[in-house]
Amino acid sequence: MNKQFLSVRSLASKSPESPGKQKICRNCDKQATKEALFDVGNGISVLERYCESCLGVMLKDIGSIA
Ligand SMILES: [Zn+2]
Repeated sequence: MNKQFLSVRSLASKSPESPGKQKICRNCDKQATKEALFDVGNGISVLERYCESCLGVMLKDIGSIA
């Protein structure tokens, strides 16, 4: 699937909708601090959560600047 990086934003450490629910980086098992938005085509966008270091690696991989 061809996905295109759109934007990144910081995650609040605690979400009001789901208190106590920890968000985990998709690449490792650390706490996610960033949320990256991708366009996957057909008007569909997906969110992927990363910790700081994995986000940096991921952005480097796709050649985008946060
Ligand atoms: Zn990570």
